[in-house]
Amino acid sequence: MSVPLPGLFVSHGAPTLPLEPEHPTHAFLKDFGARLERPRAILMVSAHWDTRLPALTLAPELSTIHDFYGFPEELYALRYPAPGSRELAERTAALLQAKGLQVAAEPERGLDHGAWVPLMLMYPQADIPVVQLSLQTPEGAEHHWKIGEALAPLRREGVLLIGSGGATHNLREFFRPVPGQDESYVPKFTAWLEDVLVRGDREALTDYRRRAPDARRAHPTEEHFFPLLVAAGAGGQAERIHSAMTGPSLAMDAYRFD
Ligand code: ZN
Repeated sequence: MSVPLPGLFVSHGAPTLPLEPEHPTHAFLKDFGARLERPRAILMVSAHWDTRLPALTLAPELSTIHDFYGFPEELYALRYPAPGSRELAERTAALLQAKGLQVAAEPERGLDHGAWVPLMLMYPQADIPVVQLSLQTPEGAEHHWKIGEALAPLRREGVLLIGSGGATHNLREFFRPVPGQDESYVPKFTAWLEDVLVRGDREALTDYRRRAPDARRAHPTEEHFFPLLVAAGAGGQAERIHSAMTGPSLAMDAYRFD
């Protein structure tokens, strides 16, 4: 395939997104999946799987993991039975190993909600093979950029690389908003992020903890930010293709990298 597929970053927000047709991000993901050139396979990096070494799913059919509590019953009935792809898992492992990274295999694991929530909206038929790759949050920003960089060749092989996290992700403010609380840090952080991504400023992006306005409030923990680093590291010109909010503190921005 000569024209590479874009790398993507999507914000998955709350697990209820598939049940909320009125949410702008629900409509965006559905429409975007329908319009994009159909990939041969999908490599998914979600905020909700963190392991010591980069790990890859190997199951021939992926189970649907309901890794959340206290949500409506109908959410636990949703299934996304996508096929796996041993071929893509092996190719991904080879690319990472070529950069000196050790890789682990996960023969049983399925897809967490950070993976299946956007996939269910983008590709409701669940007929495109999916492999999920884990994060190593304690390893920091530069590590995740390098993983993305190692995986860049996949974009020319018909593989859609998707990072699924959150443009901002302050869960405490989402569940327990303080009356009168000032959320102006959200648009400030997302504007900084867009500027840095569009300019392809790797140094600023990987140093976001120090350089971005209110980085620690936008991301009290870093796991929802690092899928973006993987997508950005895989290269290409960044374009913000969606923005919306879930509650006061979860920015739902999406980016493509062409
Ligand atoms: Zn999440």
